[in-house]
Amino acid sequence: MIYADNAATTKMSRAAIDAMLPYLEESYGNPSSLYAFGQQAKEALEDARARIAAALHAEPREITFTSGGSEADNQAILSAAALGLRKGKKHIVSTAFEHHAVLHTLEKLQKQGFEVTLLDVHSTGLVTAQQVADAIREDTCLVTVMYANNEIGTIQPIREIGAVCREKGVLFHTDAVQAVGHLPIDVKADNIDLLSLSAHKFHGPKGIGALYARGGVSLEPLICGGAQERRKRAGTENIPAIMGMAAALEEACAAMDQNAAKLTALRDRLIAGLDQIPYSQLNGDHAHRLPGNVSFCFEGIEGESLLLLLDEKGICASSGSACTSGSLDPSHVLLAIGRPHEVAHGSLRLTLGEDAAEADVDAIIQATTEVVTYLRNMSPFWRDLVTGKRPHVFAN
Ligand SMILES: *Cc1c(COP(=O)(O)O)cnc(C)c1O
Repeated sequence: MIYADNAATTKMSRAAIDAMLPYLEESYGNPSSLYAFGQQAKEALEDARARIAAALHAEPREITFTSGGSEADNQAILSAAALGLRKGKKHIVSTAFEHHAVLHTLEKLQKQGFEVTLLDVHSTGLVTAQQVADAIREDTCLVTVMYANNEIGTIQPIREIGAVCREKGVLFHTDAVQAVGHLPIDVKADNIDLLSLSAHKFHGPKGIGALYARGGVSLEPLICGGAQERRKRAGTENIPAIMGMAAALEEACAAMDQNAAKLTALRDRLIAGLDQIPYSQLNGDHAHRLPGNVSFCFEGIEGESLLLLLDEKGICASSGSACTSGSLDPSHVLLAIGRPHEVAHGSLRLTLGEDAAEADVDAIIQATTEVVTYLRNMSPFWRDLVTGKRPHVFAN
């Protein structure tokens, strides 16, 4: 099997598993218990918090553990909205290609009377700091723009956007779930007030993540109960997962340059190979792109069939994001960058992991070329394109 869906989730690293085991088997105490056995767990918790903070250039007290990226996104946005409401500011700026954890939270706020401006995304899959500056108003309480897109892999000018927000005195949140562990992040230099991360996107366990909130930015608890996480997130802490996350993040940061160089070479080989398929196009800018992300649209095919046939050949891929598969709507991300519906349906996302080899990339190119040709030969839609009844969208 070739696993090429690392944007959906990653394999846990050995270091992450090894970091978890002692807290599953031996040190299973509750960090809130006062006896020494519980305090061992508490020490581990605070050690992990400090290590995760260090990886982001944050302070330990600025890190709150959550159940993952979705919860961190929800809490960041709802907290900023609550702060805004107190000042009578009910306008939020975001983009049309955010993750649903952000978009659906914004929809919920719209129903409560907030106004949301979703910035248009350029066909390159990028938004600019100038667009953000132009959209900010007197009553804007939050700007939320993702660090790197989970479908097309494009990396946004976060530092510049952060600088605009700082200058205008507006809180800035970034969903950095695809970036943390893969790109160097410095919350101070990047002018970030709130940042979401999730362990299972960098070889840590599922169901654990964190929200960075700059000192002075108060969080609204989504889960009420005990006094854990300085009353920002109730519930007994998932110590094994937190230890696994800290180990995975340290490992990813230590090997970041090396991993990026390797993945970029493999990615570019894959892009060059798929580019040979007629009437196909890379989605999103090539240069400002996550090292392992390849996203293509092929004319005249249907993404779901492509995935099923690739699966038969032992290749795990995705049409867009794991969250939208099963729905017949084309990806909101591909529509946001201006892909017409019929092309957006023929999308393929391949996200490589650090253990991929050139031979895997070559096998993916060959399999995809075969499957696209096969599907096109069966498609009446493709026949219309070939006979000129319908115009092509891409050049050959
Ligand atoms: C995966 C992902 C999420 C959701 O994270 P979970 O930990 O699975 O809840 C949010 N945003 C982006 C960009 C993601 O890729």
